[in-house]
Amino acid sequence: MLKSKLKHLKSWVILLLCIIVILPAVWFLSTRFEGEKPSIMLTPSSAFINASQDITVSVSDIKSGVRKIWIGLLKDGKENVLLEKEFPKAGLHEESFKISIKPKKLGISDGKAILRMVARDFSWRRWWHGNKTYIETAVTIDTHPPDVDVLSRSHNISPGGAGLVIYKLSESCPENGVNVGGNFFPGHYGYFKDADIYMAFFALNYDQGAKTEIFVRATDQAGNIKRAGIPYYIKRKSFKKDILNISDKFLNWKTPEFDVNAPPGSKTPMLDKFLKVNRDLRKANYCKATEVGKKTDNVLYWKGTFKRLPKSANRAGFADQREYKYNGRIIDHQVHLGVDLASVAHSPVPAANSGKVAFVEYLGIYGKTIIIDHGFGLHSMYSHLSCFDVQKGQMVKKGEIIGRTGITGLTGGDHLHFGILIHNTFSNPVEWWDASWIKNNITSKIHSIESR
Ligand SMILES: [Zn+2]
Repeated sequence: MLKSKLKHLKSWVILLLCIIVILPAVWFLSTRFEGEKPSIMLTPSSAFINASQDITVSVSDIKSGVRKIWIGLLKDGKENVLLEKEFPKAGLHEESFKISIKPKKLGISDGKAILRMVARDFSWRRWWHGNKTYIETAVTIDTHPPDVDVLSRSHNISPGGAGLVIYKLSESCPENGVNVGGNFFPGHYGYFKDADIYMAFFALNYDQGAKTEIFVRATDQAGNIKRAGIPYYIKRKSFKKDILNISDKFLNWKTPEFDVNAPPGSKTPMLDKFLKVNRDLRKANYCKATEVGKKTDNVLYWKGTFKRLPKSANRAGFADQREYKYNGRIIDHQVHLGVDLASVAHSPVPAANSGKVAFVEYLGIYGKTIIIDHGFGLHSMYSHLSCFDVQKGQMVKKGEIIGRTGITGLTGGDHLHFGILIHNTFSNPVEWWDASWIKNNITSKIHSIESR
């Protein structure tokens, strides 16, 4: 009986010992001997280092903490230490360091190099040296900006008008194109046999004047930037003022088409709905159209002058400064970024030039709209249509009927709103209907490069 009691007591003592001594000891040792390696992350994670490269190194070790971080650049057998930090006490689990690498200052020449990174933690593993992370990354040191040779000579542009710059790059540049004020028009290769020759169609916004800075900008894979000036002249141009009287009949007729609500307590709900459509919806529809304009094929689908809606009269011009009046009071201002062409109701609408149908949808104030991609960033837009005769992705030839005119969207009468989009900017369609403008500003430039 006593023996069995003693045996029982012994088991309890062992259990207690386990709880008080052995288990905490096991836990303590397992945390001290943890095997998780520290992590090292570089941003940007590019394989290139430019003339003045800033990189951020993030090192982390969740369990025992970071003990040491070391980063070096190995070039031609020589090791250049970029960062060396040791932390005397455990507890630092995450830290970021900024490194500014200036290869020329370090006496490092351009070419292939190795970025070596080592981090250790406070684990007791490896005879108290800690877990070790060792990473080697192949990098290319490139401190030279690309060469930009502008090949096209004269560039005469009007506010709201377009232009073309042709240039040759000395190396592959992920970002290259024409800077116009604060706007950027990407260049595209693929037209000329020489794949280093790029074309960039660009546009001056209707409100960009004679002082707008225009230049070619190219950024190589390492991030080195080169700017190259172009010879250009900006003509003067003023745009027409236009007054649009908004009647109650128009408001009653048109506002239900749009899914907008007047603000609560509005005394003139129809008018307030109209203002929402004319301001907010206009802005959203504009953004959608310019988004479509940013996607393009590296193929010049179009040829010759653009076709105007046959037997039509101009109802409104490009960049007309519109003043909206209601009961004699000015209620809004907007700019008309296309040309309104009116013919008989439901007139067949021809594609202005050959291209690929990029958009076939109802687009708010523009109503039923088609956008055709003519390649290299040039698009034409057809709005207020009553029906569509084409589908997205379809190739169309110049003159092919794509739909019919109508009254969809914010319009009081059957007409075609015709727009030209260059990348993200609406441009004056009149230039594209003009054979001599196209010859002087586009085709002669292309031919002079082809005949070099
Ligand atoms: Zn219009």
